[in-house]
Amino acid sequence: MKPSACLFSRRTLLFPALLIASSPIFAQQQQYDSTDHRATEVYSPVPPIVTPAEKVGNPPSDAVILFDGKNEDQWVKTADETPADWIVSDGILTVNKKSGNIQTRQTFTNYQLHLEFRIPKDITGSDQARGNSGLFLASTGKGDAGYELQILDNYNNKTYTNGQVGSVYKQSIPLANPSRKPGEWSSYDVVWTAPVFNADGSLASPARVTAFLNGVLVQNCFELKGETRYIGKPYYHAHGPSPIKLQAHGDKSEPISFRNIWVRPLEPLQ
Ligand code: MG
Repeated sequence: MKPSACLFSRRTLLFPALLIASSPIFAQQQQYDSTDHRATEVYSPVPPIVTPAEKVGNPPSDAVILFDGKNEDQWVKTADETPADWIVSDGILTVNKKSGNIQTRQTFTNYQLHLEFRIPKDITGSDQARGNSGLFLASTGKGDAGYELQILDNYNNKTYTNGQVGSVYKQSIPLANPSRKPGEWSSYDVVWTAPVFNADGSLASPARVTAFLNGVLVQNCFELKGETRYIGKPYYHAHGPSPIKLQAHGDKSEPISFRNIWVRPLEPLQ
């Protein structure tokens, strides 16, 4: 087994790929020029709606606490790495859209992560402009560079399915849609295996992600095709240990909030 391989069978690995391969994605993509963002947006299959259970997870003894409700000392602005200035109030961290993306001071390679987010109860907007944020599993540069696990309100909000909450943005449709109502707290639990690069910068093994949204599996050891991109196909460029990033999306909807963010760095499997 390669160091970064996930402990799942090839059959389970193939399932998300088959979902995509059997959909009208490719026919749809051909309708648009490759410079058009719609060329990489698909609308089927639609993940089944699942009602999640209520319990969420608190940090175990060896967790690195990234946000515990007190301050955002573990975070800096992505743009210039000065201290983050999102809003910390009543134990929660709320996006400051004017300030932009934030990322961890520490860098990570492989890890287990827990994060909770809340879409505002009175959220407005539709499609991608409704509670959009994102968990970048590795930030590889300024702006939205990296690998985004989407955060969006899809309780009753349609968008392209490879861009809804639980998706690896524009790469992998989630296996289910266990969204909670706006105003309720949701949780992500993620296992991230970073890509490995050869000395010449070529890819030795791709990144993989397993993710649970509200305790429901939404990504099963998905093998990423590269960094997630709004326009164009994904591709890799070599990088080392990276920060974890949260997105301040530029849409006009009300900002979302976070709480209880922790991570457990993992050694590669031998
Ligand atoms: Mg996003």
